[in-house]
Amino acid sequence: MTGRVVVVGSANVDLVVDVPRHPAGGETILGGDLRRTPGGKGANQAVAAVRAGAADTTFVGALGRDESADLLLASLDGAGVRTDTVDRVDAPTGTALITVSPDGENAIVVAPGANSRVRVGAAQARRIAAADVVLAQLEIPLDAVVAAARERREGALFVLNAAPSRDLPDTLWEQLDVLVVNEHEAADLVGRAAPPEELASALLARVPAVVVTLGAGGSLVARRGAEPLRVPAAEVVAVDTTGAGDTYCGVLAAALAGAGTAGSGLVQAARLAGAAGALAVTRPGAQDAVPDAADVVALAGRLPADTK
Ligand code: ADP
Repeated sequence: MTGRVVVVGSANVDLVVDVPRHPAGGETILGGDLRRTPGGKGANQAVAAVRAGAADTTFVGALGRDESADLLLASLDGAGVRTDTVDRVDAPTGTALITVSPDGENAIVVAPGANSRVRVGAAQARRIAAADVVLAQLEIPLDAVVAAARERREGALFVLNAAPSRDLPDTLWEQLDVLVVNEHEAADLVGRAAPPEELASALLARVPAVVVTLGAGGSLVARRGAEPLRVPAAEVVAVDTTGAGDTYCGVLAAALAGAGTAGSGLVQAARLAGAAGALAVTRPGAQDAVPDAADVVALAGRLPADTK
């Protein structure tokens, strides 16, 4: 894959503790050893894009001037993501406090910190203008997401992973080429729960292409003027589902940048992204769980055919 990808988004350090059960208000409980790992939707997706083979991947984000920033830069730089467009700001690096109960349920508090200062300045705009695909999520200010979309060149694709859920302004809807959401986010945007085909068809009134991810059910690709397609998931033993959605989005963007189109290229991109998401759930962690391109391509080739 040869394309250029710019990911605009959040970077968080994940502080993770296994607990026998989640504490109630006012309660103190003892947990296991603390794990400190690189995360945040934007940084995770940038690492996924570069590992999927989009050799020219840039991350646009903001970090503090602390040890957490060092950990995140080491992960991004180590993967080969370009980080010269990351702002260093006077706020703590974003942090997610995560407790995990024995049944695998997460309780999470995010302190956005530096992520609320993400902006598109001149240096970031120049890199965005050279990209084939610009990918963003919603853990940063909406102004920055809209600005990133507007700076892309004619013919480049703007892909939004609308996570976590929030209302989108018209100024953002009108910029979208591809919307990627899970079932809950799709239902939030449509305003009611419904089968994924129905949600996707409602969303097509506002965007030309929608991908709904369905966990172990694979994904649904819907484009205006074409029958929606179900892309099956690979059968895997899930160990940790953290980062599956982020891996999916990063690999989708990398594949679209290589294909240069959101037309029929979108279905092939969804197959690769789905294979990558499946491999990610077989490993613990977020950025650490992102698979290599060769494994993704091999697994995607073994997936059953898409169905209408
Ligand atoms: P999110 O974490 O954003 O809710 P999903 O759980 O839908 O995202 O996962 C994203 C993609 O990763 C899915 O569309 C699917 O292709 C793949 N995936 C996730 N969980 C599994 C699983 N248990 N088995 C196989 N593939 C999976």
